[in-house]
Amino acid sequence: MTNSSTLDIDRPLETANAFQRFAIAADQIAATTKRLTKAAILGDYFVALADEDLRLAARYFAGTPFPQFDQRVLQVGGSALMTALVTVSGVEPDTLQAALVQRGDLGDVAAQFLPNTTAPSLQLSTVEDAFTELVNTRGNKRKVEGIVNLLRQATPLEAKYLIKLMAGDLRIGLREGAVEDAIARLAQQEVSRIQWVNMLTGDIGETALLARHDQLDTAKMRLFHPIKFMLASPVEDFDEISRRMPQGFAVEDKFDGIRAQVHIAPIAANSTPLLHGVTTEGMRVALFSRTLDEITATFPDLIAPLASIYPEALGTDASAGLILDGEIVPFQGDRILPFQDLQKRLGRKTLMDELLQSTPVAFIAYDLLYHQDKVLIESPYEVRRSLLESLPLNTDRVRRANAQRFSDVAALDQEFQAARDRGNEGLMIKQIQSTYKPGKRGKDWLKVKRAIATLDVVITAAEVGTGKRSRFLSDYTFAVRTSETDPTLLNVGKAYSGLTDAEVQDLSDWLKQHTLQEFAHGRVRTVEPQIVLEVTFDRVQPSKRHKGGYALRFPRILRLRPDKPAHEIDTLETVRKLADHSPESPP
Ligand code: AMP
Repeated sequence: MTNSSTLDIDRPLETANAFQRFAIAADQIAATTKRLTKAAILGDYFVALADEDLRLAARYFAGTPFPQFDQRVLQVGGSALMTALVTVSGVEPDTLQAALVQRGDLGDVAAQFLPNTTAPSLQLSTVEDAFTELVNTRGNKRKVEGIVNLLRQATPLEAKYLIKLMAGDLRIGLREGAVEDAIARLAQQEVSRIQWVNMLTGDIGETALLARHDQLDTAKMRLFHPIKFMLASPVEDFDEISRRMPQGFAVEDKFDGIRAQVHIAPIAANSTPLLHGVTTEGMRVALFSRTLDEITATFPDLIAPLASIYPEALGTDASAGLILDGEIVPFQGDRILPFQDLQKRLGRKTLMDELLQSTPVAFIAYDLLYHQDKVLIESPYEVRRSLLESLPLNTDRVRRANAQRFSDVAALDQEFQAARDRGNEGLMIKQIQSTYKPGKRGKDWLKVKRAIATLDVVITAAEVGTGKRSRFLSDYTFAVRTSETDPTLLNVGKAYSGLTDAEVQDLSDWLKQHTLQEFAHGRVRTVEPQIVLEVTFDRVQPSKRHKGGYALRFPRILRLRPDKPAHEIDTLETVRKLADHSPESPP
């Protein structure tokens, strides 16, 4: 174990107050790349905490101000944090901006510029109260005031981590998995057990306490918080499928819509006020997106249909409910419509009846993760599938994906074409014995997509356009990740066309609010890398101008991907592969 007092820090861990100790431990963790040392520092820090502090510290080290089951968000953007920092530090905005460009992290900038005049007094619980208040504060101005107030009570080191927490990432090379590791070590438990309880409760803080008090067995699934989604890997050709799944596989259409997880339960069973969803006729229903955000309000027309599929026979026990995994698609009659139709409904604050009428949707279920009182994710696909088939999923608005068993890939060509003719993107191939692996992109689900090459990229900078788009930030520079393990973004191109005027307008507003740095009087801006685009292009060519060494030629935006988080975009490796397949560059 590391002896924290021998580490090179200004103030030894054990003599500092609670939030200062959190910040010191975070700094120590950031200073080492060794996983074991990180875990040891975390363990030393956790062990000395009182229960309530442990609950909060575990959450904060997982990088989130609130437990995962609790969908509250601070809604504090980079520009609000910057404005608050300007006020508290008294430093010129330009100086802070320049430091931000250099350091790339506003928390680090705060540590550099805030005066070292405040004695540490913040407790973890004070921070929790301040975060709660921020959630309840409406309006940017008042939010900034709230942040200023909090930062004024903080030492520079504390401010550094308050800002990182509010920005949603500690950036100390620690993920929730490492926190689970540390909890497991302290309680001398298998880490898989801790992960399981964390998944059930949706709260790493509660998990830490249950582990400390040897009560992991008592953990119950908390419905109405999202379980991470299982993801699929792409396949190059059908051969790979026969190699990976020689015993046979299930084939489903790959729907082109929005991934959604649906929770349904009788109200009496789940009446805790913090729980999410809406109620209708004795049932509670919630929908969550792939980014684990609640999207119930975007689909009011699905609520009653979803509530109606709950079989009475499952009862109204406290733990009774269903969790379905599936896709929301634009749907009319018995036809799936193009994805673009669905986009009209996304990102709107209010949904007019007209819009609901003109873009009807359906939820197509393809997996079942919880049934009655049982978590099913450790059951094989075929067991989950047969339970899914026992549910009445055959209404206009709620349907079940067809699944066929095959043992020979020869039939897949025809199936692929048939799926395309039904308006779907391609096929999903699923290993029949596989368990549901939350948050994993493994080889148990394989996706066979359309032939044209596309990349999922994130916008890193935007520029005011020309002509009728000269009022908007409409030209987007976009990037891919360096690799699955290295999140550094590398720009690979710039796109101008492909979005509708309404989308350009909305996006322009968003980009202005999430600007990191302005140039040319705001005509060019670097922005928070959060908006994911699916782009297509002529080909990939080597480029000296781009750090990653490649650029896309004639990129066009196919669509916005609000359902995809930025950390799931494509990597440079994919770009490189596509470059290998691109025709030779002209001389
Ligand atoms: P991609 O977005 O290209 O990474 O492909 C994975 C996505 O395909 C999933 O996140 C789902 O939203 C979607 N999908 C469509 N149909 C299915 C299906 N039958 N099973 C699983 N995922 C599906």
